[in-house]
Amino acid sequence: MNRCYDVYAFKIGSPESREVAIIFNDITRFKDTENKLKEYQHSLEKQVVVRTKEQAKSNADLEHFAYVASHDLREPLRMITSFLQLLERRYKDQLDTDANEFIGFAVDGAKRLDAMIKDLLAYSKVSSEEREFSLIKLENILEKTLINLKVQIDENNAIITDDPLPTVNRNNKLLVQLFQNLIGNAIKYRSHDKPQIHKSPKEEKNQYIFSVKDNGIGIDSEHQNRIFTIFQRLHRNDEYEGTGIDLAIAQKIIQELGGAIWVESELGKGSTFYFTIPN
Ligand code: ADP
Repeated sequence: MNRCYDVYAFKIGSPESREVAIIFNDITRFKDTENKLKEYQHSLEKQVVVRTKEQAKSNADLEHFAYVASHDLREPLRMITSFLQLLERRYKDQLDTDANEFIGFAVDGAKRLDAMIKDLLAYSKVSSEEREFSLIKLENILEKTLINLKVQIDENNAIITDDPLPTVNRNNKLLVQLFQNLIGNAIKYRSHDKPQIHKSPKEEKNQYIFSVKDNGIGIDSEHQNRIFTIFQRLHRNDEYEGTGIDLAIAQKIIQELGGAIWVESELGKGSTFYFTIPN
């Protein structure tokens, strides 16, 4: 077996004498371990590449499935809804109150399912659509968002303020949707007080951290993780309308942009949603 040595030579004795000392340090075991570690690291890197490819493929498959399924599911569902509505219109007078109520529940259920399928489609489109990136002033994005939310803002007398926002190299449509979902929620989940929403950016070494702070109903710490999951809601539909898609879409957009999103909140004390965008 070959052995490895660390060799160190140095002069000894007086300058006139020509004596040299050599120290051989046997580092064979150290080198063996080093080589094994290198091999191990190499094989781990290979495994990560393979797994990432597999993961990307299964994500793409899942998104394709969601897209196709939601397209195809809407057609028969439309038929159910329209025939139920026909039944309701044509036989309303011949049916008793219970039967009319049951038809009403069925129509509501079908409409809700349609809304969820539409949302699923929107969710799967976040990463399946081709996108152009360009330099975008976030002030302009905020302006567009506020135009889209004008009705809710006026109805609730919401006050929206922001510290100067930066310019980022990202996709316009995704950012408008992200701002819209977060500000829209801040208005929807308002408390008795007039909604006050403040956006502010902070620049760090490699990223911007944005915050959207509201004075709304707040979120119990117990539920803060699950609100980003698709169709997860903390309220019944008769309390607050919705399907539980907005934060899931917000999270997916942030993933597309290479950042992270989280919330800090206390029940009854407002919420602050944070998200990062690498700069
Ligand atoms: P939806 O509004 O349709 O329920 P979302 O995905 O937007 O769906 O939100 C999920 C849940 O998170 C909501 O049901 C709500 O309980 C909570 N939530 C979201 N934003 C806020 C907010 N700004 N303040 C308080 N609760 C919020």
